[in-house]
Amino acid sequence: MKELGFGLMRLPLLDEDDKASIDIERLCNMVDTFLTSGCRHFDTAYNYHGEMSEAAFKEAVAKRYPRDRFTVTDKMPMFQVEEEAELEQIFNEQLERCGVDYFDYYWLHSLNEKSIEKSHRFSAFEFIDKKKQNGKIRHTGFSFHDTAEVLDKTLALHPELDYVQLQINYLDWEDDEIQSRACYETAVKHGKRIMVMEPVKGGSLAVLPPKAEEIFRAYHPESSAASWAIRYAASLENVDHVLSGMSDEVQLLDNIKTMTDFKPLTDEEREVINQALMTIRDSRAIDCTRCYYCVPGCPVNIVIPDYFTAYNDYRLFGEMMRFSSFNKVKNLMSKYGKPSECIACGACEEICPQHLPIIDLLEQIAGEMEAEVS
Ligand code: SF4
Ligand code: SF4
Repeated sequence: MKELGFGLMRLPLLDEDDKASIDIERLCNMVDTFLTSGCRHFDTAYNYHGEMSEAAFKEAVAKRYPRDRFTVTDKMPMFQVEEEAELEQIFNEQLERCGVDYFDYYWLHSLNEKSIEKSHRFSAFEFIDKKKQNGKIRHTGFSFHDTAEVLDKTLALHPELDYVQLQINYLDWEDDEIQSRACYETAVKHGKRIMVMEPVKGGSLAVLPPKAEEIFRAYHPESSAASWAIRYAASLENVDHVLSGMSDEVQLLDNIKTMTDFKPLTDEEREVINQALMTIRDSRAIDCTRCYYCVPGCPVNIVIPDYFTAYNDYRLFGEMMRFSSFNKVKNLMSKYGKPSECIACGACEEICPQHLPIIDLLEQIAGEMEAEVS
């Protein structure tokens, strides 16, 4: 049984410049469609949408549906916890924010070598295990952004965990930094169930360079690019949930269609993906998934993912997107820090799950785009 999970991290907004301004009415309609179609899983976190994602879940789901109609994952933000006592405080706050009295799935959020060390220092693994014994959590695990070697060591130390949440998509499968395949194989070796995050890589595998689109359309004219990416992740053994951060009704219906009528990829379809992949690799600029983890900590208020999106659009679609991409950069510069104002403090690079060289990339954007619109 493969389930589609509704990721509550890229929700429709009332004001595109304010991540906390979630359009609750629209979200309620999307939730109704999602649950009526037979799907049931939601994924939220403490920090999503300027800390408003959990409250939105409460309004759109927990207050409107009986507890047995849905399952939910929440996560402990280990990247911002500063002392052990905060674990209990944040966990209780999350139950309250979400309007539930237990979590079906609960992870230590976005672990890497540094936050794993902190999790050990603060006994965070023991904390979630105790919550499981007390019935406040049904399944424990962590979401992960580091090497397969670090994952292997961590899972060896924690056989009590049920799940690992991994970034898996066809673009990152053999990537040296993300190590999707190696991490997947490590989780399988340890007998863990796997939830997949970023199957569409923050939406970037939904809108492809024209040549890659053509390759997919020629094989399945009626299938979206996103459906290929979702099927790629869901076809893997041990994967029982594939999460997708859905921002509108079109994406929602497309994902529901892909997963309710789920068919694993055939060998021939895998070959089609490989062909499209070569074209995508040739034209991609910055592999940002728009998670926004880097934004709150920037001392000069640079909206890093928004600049990266404008740059990617320009690089991917060329002259066709030139005017709107440069205009977007100009607008961003009038409201937030400019790419050239980066003071290279490194806070963003430390937290970026994609390990992007953000400082160098901003310098590149400052040279290629900012200079032209200043
Ligand atoms: S390195 Fe630059 S972009 Fe990153 S947090 Fe520091 S000032 Fe902001
Ligand atoms: S730069 Fe990294 S941390 Fe920032 S939004 Fe992109 S992927 Fe997330």
